[in-house]
Amino acid sequence: MPTTLNTDHFWMPFTANRQFKSKPRLLVAASGMHYTTDDGRQILDGTAGLWCTNAGHCHPKIVEAIQQQAAKMDFAPVFQMGHPLAFEAASALAAIAPEGLNRVFFCNDGSESVDTALKIALAYHRVRGDGLRTRLIGRERGYHGVGFGGIAVGGIAGNRKHFGPTLAGVDHLRHPLDIARNAFSHGLPEHGAEIADEFEQRLLALHDPATVAALIVEPVQGSTGVILPPKGYLQKLRAVCDKYGILLIFDEVITGFGRLGAPFAADYFGVMPDMICCAKGLTNASVPMGAVIVRQDIHDAFMSAAGENAIEFFHGYTYTGHPLAAAAAIATMAVYKSENLFDRAAATAPYFEQAAHSLKGLPFVKDVRNLGLVCGIELEPVAGKPGARAFDAFLKCFWEKGVLIRTTGDIIALSPPLIIEPGQIDQLFTAIGDVLKEQHAASSTVA
Ligand code: PMP
Repeated sequence: MPTTLNTDHFWMPFTANRQFKSKPRLLVAASGMHYTTDDGRQILDGTAGLWCTNAGHCHPKIVEAIQQQAAKMDFAPVFQMGHPLAFEAASALAAIAPEGLNRVFFCNDGSESVDTALKIALAYHRVRGDGLRTRLIGRERGYHGVGFGGIAVGGIAGNRKHFGPTLAGVDHLRHPLDIARNAFSHGLPEHGAEIADEFEQRLLALHDPATVAALIVEPVQGSTGVILPPKGYLQKLRAVCDKYGILLIFDEVITGFGRLGAPFAADYFGVMPDMICCAKGLTNASVPMGAVIVRQDIHDAFMSAAGENAIEFFHGYTYTGHPLAAAAAIATMAVYKSENLFDRAAATAPYFEQAAHSLKGLPFVKDVRNLGLVCGIELEPVAGKPGARAFDAFLKCFWEKGVLIRTTGDIIALSPPLIIEPGQIDQLFTAIGDVLKEQHAASSTVA
């Protein structure tokens, strides 16, 4: 029986709350690759929840670790004291992080990890006596969560415009999406690395590079439509950061934990940032947790600073390294390792890529772009109704085909759990293809 809902109280995030009441989509259980709806239907999860349940839902080992910890110690303060699991979780994360990124600052989600990384960057320059470096640079269409730091460096007007001027001294580079030249690329786009040259040009033309603290980018821009870095693009950003002493922060909230078939996108691209923001797959989304993984010498600069620069990093959360989250993170890292899930994602990626590109030539499909187990399908927009076609596809996939996809504007984004099987990949893309054909048939009939 469908659940009867009182919708009078819960204020839903990023949701058209006014429209939601008519026919709620409700998920009540999850296991492996599937959700169960309140009316008992099984939905194949093509999005790992929100790019986060990389090991599949309700993994028994993670569930067990949380249950045991909940019964043993619910909470412990971590200011001026600690509990062993926080240290253990940091070690487990450092063990899979790129070489040299060894220090872990825990928080509760991706937004906090971004704001934490920005603050570490600003304070790091100060402890080294370089306090003029206060500018931060992000990119258009960058999504870095919803904290004030994140919306400032993020490049989405809609997330910012109702909240005033946010942070001062922030600039944005262009994003590298170029459908005209790169449509239907398999893997990384060939064209567009030169877009990164704008970074140095802007630094010199508009800013004094010695005033810039950090550049933050998602190696693959996820939420705004799966925007892949053209070949050589990230390397160029790294080189400019090195040239001018600017920290490079990778926001790997989506790309972390195997999404591209490597532990982090930094590993996949062979481009090392100075800090990595992560969350989501850190606990397989079982308990909220985020983290910033920091280059050892950035941390050490705080330890060795002297005189008036000798400051501690005054930042933290009541729930930093929360015992349940720490237990979940330790168990999750163990599952990734014992089930070899990052390699498994790499092995599945070619099949996923083929299936994604089978949509080429279907009605409305303007571009397909993919890497690892992430894919964006950009649709021709309906005139005057941005996002309408993709959202209609989402509804039809959910209600009629039993698959969960995600849409952002006119783009369908897919990011299944890393355990997805070939047959499930077929189910996912067949459902999307069928919906597009049905939409086309319906629009032809109307015309
Ligand atoms: N950064 C990126 C790249 C993200 O995709 C997200 C969330 N999708 C965030 C930050 C924010 O994470 P959270 O919603 O956990 O705060």
